[in-house]
Amino acid sequence: MAILLNEEEIAEAVDRLADQIMASGEGPVCIVGIRSRGDEVAERVCNRLAETDRELQYGVLDISLYRDDLEHLKQNPKLQSSEISFPMDGAHVILVDDVLFTGRTIRAALDALTDYGRPQKVELAVLIDRGWRELPIEPTYVGKVLETKRLDRVVVNLQGTDGEDSVILESN
Ligand code: 5GP
Ligand code: MG
Repeated sequence: MAILLNEEEIAEAVDRLADQIMASGEGPVCIVGIRSRGDEVAERVCNRLAETDRELQYGVLDISLYRDDLEHLKQNPKLQSSEISFPMDGAHVILVDDVLFTGRTIRAALDALTDYGRPQKVELAVLIDRGWRELPIEPTYVGKVLETKRLDRVVVNLQGTDGEDSVILESN
């Protein structure tokens, strides 16, 4: 077990995401966090962007029913609802997640988004890219790249969900 990121380093990664998004252009963006923890990362990115004059919407996507590997998931996914209250048609969406691994969650998230309409553009922001993609999906914005082994477990703890900010590596 090793601590990969402490509270300060997580804050720096969030800042990097917000800075990259700010530098990428102007115009309204819809920041959509993927449950769970992606929503908390998205909220923090929104808080940083709210300090600028970028026009913002915030939403939450629950993709537990869209995964193509439901039968492989250890627990039954808990059904929580998505919260998207802005028009999806023509929107510039930035999907936000805590960890990008195989890419299957993002593939499912793209499916889920289309149930709400046809966005003009969808980008991807991840706090941590741990590698090992199984699909042709790459992030547009990255907080931190971590070198991992395929079977490692990257445990992300965030204040709102877990009571503290830390990223821990559990090696197998
Ligand atoms: P993927 O679908 O890209 O394989 O995995 C991404 C999603 O699964 C993320 O939403 C993330 O919450 C979760 N996930 C996959 N691998 C890890 C990991 O090593 N650590 C954590 N914390 N979450 C992971
Ligand atoms: Mg997640």
